[in-house]
Amino acid sequence: MIETTTTDLIINFSYVLAAALFIFGLKLLGHPSSARKGNLLSAIAMLIAIVVTMFDNNIVSFQMIAIAMLAGSILGVLAARLIAMTAMPEMVSLLNGIGGLASLFVAWATVEANSEFSVFTMIVTFLALLIGGVTFSGSLIAWAKLSERITGRSVTFAGQAVFNSLLVLVIIFAAYLFVAQPTMLAGVNIDFNMVLYTAMGLALLFGIMLVLPIGGADMPVVISLLNSYSGLAACAAGFALHNNILIVAGSLVGASGIILTNIMCKAMNRSLTNVLFSGFMPVTKTDMVIEGEVKPLSAEDAYYVLEAAQSVVVIPGYGMAVAQAQHAMKELQQLLEENGAEVAYAIHPVAGRMPGHMNVLLAEADVSYEQLFEMDEINKRIQNFDVAMVIGANDVVNPAAREMKGSPIYGMPVINADLAKNVFVLKRGMASGFAGIDNPLFFKPNCRMIFGDAKETLGHMIRQFSD
Ligand code: NDP
Repeated sequence: MIETTTTDLIINFSYVLAAALFIFGLKLLGHPSSARKGNLLSAIAMLIAIVVTMFDNNIVSFQMIAIAMLAGSILGVLAARLIAMTAMPEMVSLLNGIGGLASLFVAWATVEANSEFSVFTMIVTFLALLIGGVTFSGSLIAWAKLSERITGRSVTFAGQAVFNSLLVLVIIFAAYLFVAQPTMLAGVNIDFNMVLYTAMGLALLFGIMLVLPIGGADMPVVISLLNSYSGLAACAAGFALHNNILIVAGSLVGASGIILTNIMCKAMNRSLTNVLFSGFMPVTKTDMVIEGEVKPLSAEDAYYVLEAAQSVVVIPGYGMAVAQAQHAMKELQQLLEENGAEVAYAIHPVAGRMPGHMNVLLAEADVSYEQLFEMDEINKRIQNFDVAMVIGANDVVNPAAREMKGSPIYGMPVINADLAKNVFVLKRGMASGFAGIDNPLFFKPNCRMIFGDAKETLGHMIRQFSD
C-alpha cells in the first residue's frame, strides 16, 4: 500500500516537473535567441513524461512504449534531416494531423479496452475522437493544399452550407448515441460498434469540409488552428485515460495554438470567422486598375545605387527560402556595412510559408537578431531608407492591401516597401505570390525589378562590390 503511494508520488511529482519544463520551454520559445534552449527543455520534459509513464504500468507496457519511442525517434531524425526548409509548413501540418490521429486512436482503444464507463469518460472520449478526427483529415487537406497536390483555392459547391449544417446535426446525434449508449431507439437495434465507426467517419468528413473552402493564403491561420485542435484532442484523451501530463500538455498546445491563431489573424487584419467562412462570402471585385510600367534593372546597375546608399532595408519573403539566398544576403549585408550603410531586416509575420519562416532562415545565416525588425516598427521609418530590397517577397509588400478596396488582401497589414526612396524587387518574373493577385508595387515609379533567381542576383551584386 505504502509502496503504491510512493510510486504515485514520484509519478505525480515528475509530471509536475515535466509540466513546469513545458511552460518554461514555451516561454523561451518566445524569442529567437532563446528558442533552441526552449525546444530542448520541452523535449526533456516530454522524455520525463514518457519515462515516468513507463513506470505507470496501468497505461501501456514498458516494451510497447520503448518500441514506440525508438520508432518515433528514427522517424523524427529522418524527417528533420530529409525535409527541405521550404517544405516545413507541410511537415508541421502533417505532424498536427498525426497528433490528432493519435488522440482518435486513444479514444478508440479506450472504448474497446473497457466495458464500464462513466458519462464523463464517454463525453471526453467522444471529444477526443471527434476533435482528433477533424484535426487529422483537416491537416491532410491543409497539407495537400500547401504542397499543391490539390488546388490552393477555396473549394465550394452548391448547398455546401446546408450540407455542413446537416453534418453538425448528425454529429450531435451520434454524440448522444455514443454517450448514452441506448441499445434500442425507435424500434431499431443500436450496435455500439456501428456508432463508434460512424462517429469516426463523421469526424473525418467534418475535418475535410472545414478546410476545403478555405483559400491557400489563409493556410497559416488554419495550420495554427489545427495545431490548437490537436492539443485539445490530446487534452480530452488525457481525461479519458486519467493521465495528468497529457491533460496539461494538451491544454498548453491548445492554448498556445489559439494565441498564435489570434496573432496571425491580427497580422492579416482578419477575424477568425472571416478566415474560416470567407469561401462562402461573395467576392467583391476591385475596380482599381494598376497604372505605371515595369522597369527592369540589371544587378550590375543596382550596385551603383547600393554603393551610394546610407541605409538599406531588406524585406525577405518566400522566394528567399526557395532560392536559399539567405547566406548570399548576409554576405552582401557585410559588404554594405563595410561601405558605411545601415542594414535592417523587416520581417512580416506571415512572410514565407509558416510563422517564423524568415527568422529561421536568417538565423541559419547568422544574421544578428538586433537587425531584425517587426513590421510595425519598420513601417514607422521606412520612408527614411535609401533602398528597400525585396527578396522573393510579394504579398507581404503588396500596397493593394492599403490602396485597393475590394482586393482579397485589402486591410491586411503589409510592409510599406513602396514608401522607401528606392525599391529593388528581386524575383524571377512577374508571377504573382501565394494569394494569386497582382502587385501594384512593381509598377510604382520608385521601383526597379531585378529579374532572376534571388541567390544569383545577390551573387552578381557581391561580385561587383568585391571588384
Ligand atoms: P509570396 O508567396 O507572396 O511571393 C513569393 C515570391 O517569390 C513569388 O512572387 C515568386 O515570384 C518569388 N520567387 C520564387 N522563387 C524565387 C527565386 N528562386 N528567386 C527569387 N524570387 C523567387 O511570398 P510572401 O513571403 O511575400 O508572402 C507569403 C504568402 O504566403 C502570404 O500570402 C501568406 O498569407 C501566405 N502563407 C504564409 C504562411 C506563413 O505562415 N508564413 C503559410 C502559408 C501561406 P517569381 O515566381 O516571379 O520568382
